[in-house]
Amino acid sequence: MAPSKGWMDLISDCLNDVYSHGVEEFLDYAFKKTGRREKIHCPCVKCSNTYSATREVVGTHLKVYGIVRNYTFWYHHGERVGESESNLESVQQSEDEPSNEMHDILRDLYIEFCGQDTNDMDTDIFAYELLPQGSNLPQSYYDAKKVIQDLSLSYKKIDACVNNCMLYWKEDERLDFCKICGYSRRKTDKYNGEDKVKTNGKRIPKKILRYFPLKPRLQRLFMSIKIASLMRWHKDKRVDDGVMRHPADSMAWISFDKLHPNFASDSRNVRQGLASDGFQPFANSKMPYSVWPLLLIQYNLPPWMCMKQSNFILSMLIPGPEGPRDAIDIYLQPLVEELRELWETGIDTFDAYAQQNFKFHAVLLWTINDFPTYANLSS
Ligand SMILES: [Zn+2]
Ligand SMILES: [Zn+2]
Repeated sequence: MAPSKGWMDLISDCLNDVYSHGVEEFLDYAFKKTGRREKIHCPCVKCSNTYSATREVVGTHLKVYGIVRNYTFWYHHGERVGESESNLESVQQSEDEPSNEMHDILRDLYIEFCGQDTNDMDTDIFAYELLPQGSNLPQSYYDAKKVIQDLSLSYKKIDACVNNCMLYWKEDERLDFCKICGYSRRKTDKYNGEDKVKTNGKRIPKKILRYFPLKPRLQRLFMSIKIASLMRWHKDKRVDDGVMRHPADSMAWISFDKLHPNFASDSRNVRQGLASDGFQPFANSKMPYSVWPLLLIQYNLPPWMCMKQSNFILSMLIPGPEGPRDAIDIYLQPLVEELRELWETGIDTFDAYAQQNFKFHAVLLWTINDFPTYANLSS
């Protein structure tokens, strides 16, 4: 019996315990089934079963580069047709990880739907067969998306000048040309000079900033009892033994508290760091296209949570092709405005852990970036 393969879905989080455990099980299985003593094919994203390596190397590759996601039938590692897969994954899955158990149950129960688009299949079966009449589960992907929008977790598109001079927002929202360089806001047809239009009649901006409003995202942290309780961790649970494990152990944190005793008096006030760096979404492509994400890190949370990808708040995606350089100021405007309000006036929200309404403030303590970006940011 082949080990369970659910861990392969966690490829985006290769440091995850469930993933590491899966890698070890895979290695045990592969060496046992192939009868090899030295080397096996490495199914990591880089080697893609083309190269062979020792157990140690394959293990490291799988944890660093990740496993080829669609290598689900482990042919190169001794798996043969008809072999069943162990289903122990649900037992080993930690409670933080999303589980696909329900999906599997549905697939087992309604095998005739297997060929269909699984997302729709789940919704239809849920709505008509499993839930009582009158349930209000969204009927389609589109409806589900609307719910997300109503929870205000969507993002705003703000047009930007192609030369990074300005954003078309607030009083400039309706302008057609950049106030500084005079370039057109939208893509134009090179033959007749008219604005290009999409099939739905909308004109196409040359550059778009995607901005993810911060306030609703911070409020959401307090909507979960578990996270709301952990937002106090740095004060309530942290052990002060002189060892540096969390920014709360640092001089910067302590002197901030001394300077702002009001802010420090409520441990729920949010302390954040801003991380930015460009990245190339298509790693092997020669295109210069890069996206500049800005991420906010919540330092109220314990060290094992605050640096976890799922707890980052994506603040904005600045479009390429080249980095915004000094013009990053231009793109930071919506964030700065929100941060200013969060620092000065604060916002009301409900604390699910304390079961009460309260007003919280937020501060940006520091930024994390390489030195070129540091120069741009501090300008
Ligand atoms: Zn490899
Ligand atoms: Zn311009």
